[in-house]
Amino acid sequence: MATHETITIISPSEERTIALAARLAGILVPGDVVTLEGELGAGKTRFVRGLAIGLGHDAARVSSPTFVIAHVYDTPGARAPLVHADAYRMHASEDLDMLGWDRMADGTSIVAVEWPSRLPGVLTGPRFDVRLLHTGEDERRIEITPPPERAAAVLAAMKPRTLRCPTCGGTSDADRPTAPFCSDRCRMADLHKWFSGDYKITRAIKDSDLETTD
Ligand SMILES: [Zn+2]
Repeated sequence: MATHETITIISPSEERTIALAARLAGILVPGDVVTLEGELGAGKTRFVRGLAIGLGHDAARVSSPTFVIAHVYDTPGARAPLVHADAYRMHASEDLDMLGWDRMADGTSIVAVEWPSRLPGVLTGPRFDVRLLHTGEDERRIEITPPPERAAAVLAAMKPRTLRCPTCGGTSDADRPTAPFCSDRCRMADLHKWFSGDYKITRAIKDSDLETTD
């Protein structure tokens, strides 16, 4: 049996945690199961929001499913539907029947489950076990244990991606909201160049550019 490798990442901010989850989503396929363990406030729902973003769903709609037990996100154009379930209050198989679990977890969606230990034996499919641990106010230790044959893909997806800042030429991080700029300052400096005319459109404006299309 291949050994399960755990990949550990320290996320310094909520923003980064969402970005890391979105990257994980990039390697998921329908039928995959992501389990989320972590105390209250550790960011389980936030992580699911990142998964939704990575799959192309409307992240604003992602909230904790505690009171409804499960949400299904199925945005047109998204890579795959996402089922987000909170198993905390699920106890019996009747709950699952009522929920239509068999239909939700039929292998056509990616399934994210909070409190997976409440559903012993129910979760089939390749499992990506995610543990979120508080290590600071916004800092989280994220531990991902993927199926052994998918560990290399997870590692590759989690590798920090660096870009070159177009303003200062320094190293910038692809997950930053200011990307490709390294900072707000460099982004504003670039914007200023546009306003001050340092940048020019490289071809002359033609009449057709100005035509209205109504
Ligand atoms: Zn810069």
